[in-house]
Amino acid sequence: MNPVIALVGRPNVGKSTLFNRLTRSRDALVADFPGLTRDRKYGNGSLGNKTYTVIDTGGISGDEQGIDAAMAEQSLLAIDEADIVLFLVDARAGLSATDEAIANHLRVNQKKTWLVVNKTDGLEESLAIADFWSLGLGDPWPIAAAHGRNVTTLIDQVLAPF
Ligand code: GDP
Ligand code: MG
Repeated sequence: MNPVIALVGRPNVGKSTLFNRLTRSRDALVADFPGLTRDRKYGNGSLGNKTYTVIDTGGISGDEQGIDAAMAEQSLLAIDEADIVLFLVDARAGLSATDEAIANHLRVNQKKTWLVVNKTDGLEESLAIADFWSLGLGDPWPIAAAHGRNVTTLIDQVLAPF
């Protein structure tokens, strides 16, 4: 069974961009996964001799009503299904109240969680991550999903225990 990586975070932080990059490998197809729904998208990827499954989610806006509530529910289901959670935040938008709310949920969850600071292209890494230490989820990892900056290094670390 592949380790399962869930991508969670606010809308527009770059989850789908990262999903596309992580599933770009030869066998990147939508996984045959029980409980597949339109709102959680599954894909496979590989790094070296390791394979993994990634779940993309609609995102958590922090103001959940109607369609947003459904998206948040999908994110919670994805977290339940995952072995590893990548919590994405946006270096350009900075820290938001919604990020803090999501972090509060993830801190009490038992899943191994990585705090990933996306959109660091053109930014100095230590400055880009500075705001996010306060989320209490350990070292923030700077990446740029759109350009691939640090993505392979991150996934290599994420998969190390598997
Ligand atoms: P999602 O809503 O979290 O799935 O976010 P998307 O993947 O749809 O990305 C939202 C926007 O952020 C799009 O316009 C992306 O092109 C942009 N984006 C994603 N990753 C990066 C990045 O590494 N750097 C920059 N500058 N923009 C990015
Ligand atoms: Mg998306």
